[in-house]
Amino acid sequence: MDEGLWKDCGAFHGHTCPGLATGYRMTEIAMDFLGIPLEKAKDEELVCIAENEACGVDAVQVLLSCTPGKGNMIFRRKGKMAFTFFDRRTGKGVRVVAKPIPRDGDRQELMQRILNGPWDQFFEIKTPREGIPEKARHFDTIVCDECGEGCREDKIRLSQRRRLCPDCFDPYDRG
Ligand SMILES: [Zn+2]
Ligand SMILES: [Zn+2]
Repeated sequence: MDEGLWKDCGAFHGHTCPGLATGYRMTEIAMDFLGIPLEKAKDEELVCIAENEACGVDAVQVLLSCTPGKGNMIFRRKGKMAFTFFDRRTGKGVRVVAKPIPRDGDRQELMQRILNGPWDQFFEIKTPREGIPEKARHFDTIVCDECGEGCREDKIRLSQRRRLCPDCFDPYDRG
């Protein structure tokens, strides 16, 4: 475990916790699998698919510089403690899944075991469930005919020939 990187994760997240440690270790395992040194991973063309939006996501953002704003952190909110990582340059990918962790006992001690214990006690390495995600696309902005706010074109709906944003469009659910 790299003390400096772990400190950075704690600073970004606001505290250290077993969840953050889980994200840290899963990223470390994945980079090991992909053959990328953790301290250099920020500069690589990595993309992460997160199956949860819990504490561990923040460790991934710090370590890999994968963020929703850049489009290389994609969420599939399945409520699973699992991350898939792809290296865009090689096309190689890996899915790391956390085994169910007993939540009883000392949190501090658990955190240390997650960070430094034998990795296969807590985690499994699996094959990605999906292919490498498409790169962030460019969309035009269309001004909504009702509220006048700009909106990404693919979110615009038509109603009586007016172009409406999701806030102004009244869905018709009778089929
Ligand atoms: Zn936390
Ligand atoms: Zn509108």
